[in-house]
Amino acid sequence: MKQRSNDMNYKDPVCGMVVSRLTAAADVEYRRKTYYFCAQVCRDAFLADPQGYLRAHRQHGMPPKKVSAGEYDAKP
Ligand SMILES: [Zn+2]
Repeated sequence: MKQRSNDMNYKDPVCGMVVSRLTAAADVEYRRKTYYFCAQVCRDAFLADPQGYLRAHRQHGMPPKKVSAGEYDAKP
């Protein structure tokens, strides 16, 4: 069964919070898509760099691990 409701949930692309059209503090239309934000500051951040926030595959939890050369205390 399909439900169409006006208070659908959207994800704030900036902070990841789930907002609905009713709770969103701001919205922006970008590339024919509407994005909803929990706060004006999130909207401003998005507008400053939309592509950066829309890049889907951000590497989460994968910090660039530096391979430590090991503690080479070559003692004589
Ligand atoms: Zn937000």
